[in-house]
Amino acid sequence: MKFEDLPSDIVDRILMSIPDFTTLSAALLTSKAHVYNVYQAHPKSVFHAVAYNITGPAIRQALCVAKMAEEAEALYDEESDDSDEQATVIVELLSDDEQVIEKLLSDKNVTSVLRKNAKIVNKLEDLFSRRNKDRTSTKTALTEAESKRFHRGIYRLWALVLFQEHNYGDTLEEKITDYLENLSLSEILEIDRVRDFFDDTRLWLNLACHDSPTEPSQFIPCPNGLLSAIEELDIIRFIEEYSINPPQKVFNSLSKTLITRHQLDDKKRAEQRAKAIIDNVEGPNDICHRCNAVKGLQLWGPTNWDLLRGHLELKNVFLGYLRTNPIERAAFRQYVFDNYHPLRGVGHQFSDFIEQCFDTDAENTENWDKTKWHCLDCVHIFLKQRAWKWWYQQKQEQPGYQAVDDCWYGYNCRTQTHKWAHAQKLNHLCVPTRGDPHPDEQAAA
Ligand SMILES: [Zn+2]
Ligand SMILES: [Zn+2]
Repeated sequence: MKFEDLPSDIVDRILMSIPDFTTLSAALLTSKAHVYNVYQAHPKSVFHAVAYNITGPAIRQALCVAKMAEEAEALYDEESDDSDEQATVIVELLSDDEQVIEKLLSDKNVTSVLRKNAKIVNKLEDLFSRRNKDRTSTKTALTEAESKRFHRGIYRLWALVLFQEHNYGDTLEEKITDYLENLSLSEILEIDRVRDFFDDTRLWLNLACHDSPTEPSQFIPCPNGLLSAIEELDIIRFIEEYSINPPQKVFNSLSKTLITRHQLDDKKRAEQRAKAIIDNVEGPNDICHRCNAVKGLQLWGPTNWDLLRGHLELKNVFLGYLRTNPIERAAFRQYVFDNYHPLRGVGHQFSDFIEQCFDTDAENTENWDKTKWHCLDCVHIFLKQRAWKWWYQQKQEQPGYQAVDDCWYGYNCRTQTHKWAHAQKLNHLCVPTRGDPHPDEQAAA
């Protein structure tokens, strides 16, 4: 079949999947009679499809961020601090003018930034979806409408943060408030929902980068910085890079608008925010296979074991006093926790660790089914039963491993926590023949 003979609906599909406007123009020129006629039947939907292919569902908001980044660079080049010029960008892109949008989308510099940003936002959408919509899917399960709201919220937050970063002066907070005044309550709540997701992710990162809670790190407001911190698990570097100036004025304006203009107190704000992006959660009443507690999204299984990384403290992984044995702690941490990239897909040490614990010697422990879902409390019980056995096995398989005698007090030995030489000389990854359990475990028993 010749191209000219293709039915119009196929040509239409082809036009809709074109990646950019330069290619679209070229396609229209190739066959004036056929392709152009198909295009002319509904140019608007083709325009929107191509724009969507470049930016994702929130076309105007994505453009606003790309344009602001470009303007900011230009301002730096000119060493000017003309804040009015920046102020216009946010306002300008509120326009629905397709010609303005097409002109911007035809600019190669802008589209390359757009594509880079879209990749970042899509990856964060996958994470948002797994934590807030469907824990069983590693790719986004958001509906078209939910996805659009997520994109709109994240790009608007991004734009506001950039706006604060590159503008100074006493009226800045007013300008941000003015911008928010133009949005509906549901649109403001979308921004607030994404801010809250970033805050959750900050807490996740905090534990994921350390093996016990530390001083809460600062908020990372820019999606690019946040994603890099997740991928590199190096929160400190990204805080330095992206949070020199926490976007306090953006947060103040958000709170002020929601409290004063929309009269939402903290409780109502949280309730409405929770529904701002997601319409329906998958399996909200799903129960823990072991204890039957209704936990929904707070259940852990094969598709989200990797995310457990930011929910586990070492004290809930290692039995007895092993958690404070400096030698075991450092070696285990390095082996399991370091160099792990939850979104980049390389280095699966952490989920491998969880999965292999299911296959580890089950003598004297419960039966655990790795295909089932468990709540965090039950995950703690599971790991306390299995993690030290798994770790002992891994150590024994290391090249150059030299066996040492078991300490009589095994994992309940207190000396291992403060006497380095003792911790090194004897093995503590073994069942105690005497001694008392750790007070935490005594209380739980
Ligand atoms: Zn449970
Ligand atoms: Zn000992």
